Order: sequence, then structure tokens, then C-alpha cells
Amino acid sequence: MSDLSRSAAPKIIAIANQKGGVGKTTTTINLASALVEQNCRVLVVDLDPQGNASTGLGIEVDDRQMTTYELLLEDVDLDEVILNTQIDGLKLVPATVDLSSADMELMANEKRSFLLHDALRQVAMDRYQFDFILIDCPPSLNLLTVNAMVAAHAVLVPLQSEFFALEGLSQLMLTIREVRQTANPNLRIEGVVLTMYDARNNLSQQVEADARDNLGDLVFETVIPRNVRVSEAPSFAMPVLSYDTNSKGAAAYRNLAKELMRRNASVAA
Ligand code: ADP
Ligand code: MG
Repeated sequence: MSDLSRSAAPKIIAIANQKGGVGKTTTTINLASALVEQNCRVLVVDLDPQGNASTGLGIEVDDRQMTTYELLLEDVDLDEVILNTQIDGLKLVPATVDLSSADMELMANEKRSFLLHDALRQVAMDRYQFDFILIDCPPSLNLLTVNAMVAAHAVLVPLQSEFFALEGLSQLMLTIREVRQTANPNLRIEGVVLTMYDARNNLSQQVEADARDNLGDLVFETVIPRNVRVSEAPSFAMPVLSYDTNSKGAAAYRNLAKELMRRNASVAA
């Protein structure tokens, strides 16, 4: 980002959908890497006990001493949990399976919904000058996801291009509304991105048409195609933009990053 548009506070986006396997983690990793290509400084916060975003960014379990669990529940400073990745400009707060007990433990905490919010606003944050923080949410509308929504400025929803894709959205929208009413009145919906799109498949086209009819401008123009290079990249511990920079998947995530930046520039103007 140019210096003009670099603001002191990073834009925080929760990548959420309570359905599993819709492309949350894939979108988090690849959008993050595409934003870095656009000269943004990006932090990925892995908020899923499965730790797939951490693995996909090349951080082995043995190298995850301090994680989102410690950040949220043991008052460990942000500085101690932020790791470098192999990609310059892309940092990570990793997660391990430890986080699976966090939902219960958060219940007992008075500040249960605000822990991530507070953690991401530590003074130490200023030093990193992040432009974006992307939070990879678990496949649930539990307190971890609520923490992400309370911490975030906006929610980005990956929608898998398959039957029933839109069905879960009302529950997600309800949760967003509740968070707005209680803890984060300014929470926006950044947009809905269609993932695993197959242009030859009528069903994909149908889901796209339904989504655009129902959600209008909320749906990103960019559509992420189903692309085998995208699904191979995590096993090589890298984003698809590094694994196969000329793939259709890489091109799509590049377009998504540019569209996201365009939308945010026009909001700021
Ligand atoms: P979630 O985080 O929502 O559970 P993932 O991002 O892990 O979903 O994606 C689920 C599976 O689909 C993974 O195996 C991933 O590699 C695959 N996948 C995601 N997006 C694509 C795509 N555009 N093309 C091909 N496979 C994809
Ligand atoms: Mg995931």
C-alpha cells in the first residue's frame, strides 16, 4: 500500500462461515499472500484448533510454542506469539489443538468475547505496521468466532459453490447482528466470496446467480475457481501464489486482493 493509504490501525477481517470445508483457511492463506504481493503487511491469526492455516503457512506443530490459546487465555503478549513465515511481510499467530478447550474456558471469563479484541490492540501492535489482519475462524459459531467478530472491523464469508450453500448464511447473519447489538456496533460485512467455482457446472452458476440475487453487491465480483493447484499447495506448506504463481487459483486470489483493496480505498475516500 502506498504511504498515503497506510493508516496507523490495521484493517481486521474475520474469515468466517460455520460450515467446514468451504474455503475459509484457503482464502485466509492465499488472500494474505496476495495482499503481501500488493506490498501490504499482513498478520494471519489462526483461530481454528485444527491449525490448518499454521500448517499451510509452513509452521510445524513443534514450532508453535506460543499460540492463540496463550494469547487469549494466558495473557501472553502479542510480541511473544507472532511468528515470521517464509514470506516476507506475512506473519502468523499459530494455533494448535490446545485451542479446542478454549471455547469452554472462555465461558468462565468475564471478558469472554473481548479477549481477542483486546489482544490485537496492544501497544506493541503499532510497531508492526500491519495493513491487514486476517482471522481464520473455526467451523462453528462458538465463542472463538464471536471473539473474531468482536475484534474485527468486518467479516468476509467464503461460500462454497454447491447446493445448500446459502442455507447456513442466515444463521451467520444472525450472529453478526447479535455481535453488532452487543459488542461491536460497527461490524461490517466485507463481502461474500464464491469458492471452488466450476464454470462448467450448472450448479455453480445457479449458486452464483442466487447469491448475487440475494446479496447483491456484497458478493465479490471475483470468483475463486476449483483448481487442483490450490488444493495441492498446503501439502507443500505454501500459498498457491508461491506454489504455482501462474495457476488459475493464484490469479483468482490476486484479483480478490485487488478487489478488496479497491473496496477499502473507496470506503476510506
Ligand atoms: P475450511 O477452512 O472452510 O474448512 P478449507 O480452506 O480447508 O476449508 O478447504 C477445504 C478443502 O477444499 C481443502 O482440502 C482445500 O484444499 C480445498 N479447496 C479449497 N479451495 C479450493 C479451490 N479453490 N480449489 C480446489 N480445492 C480447494
Ligand atoms: Mg479451516
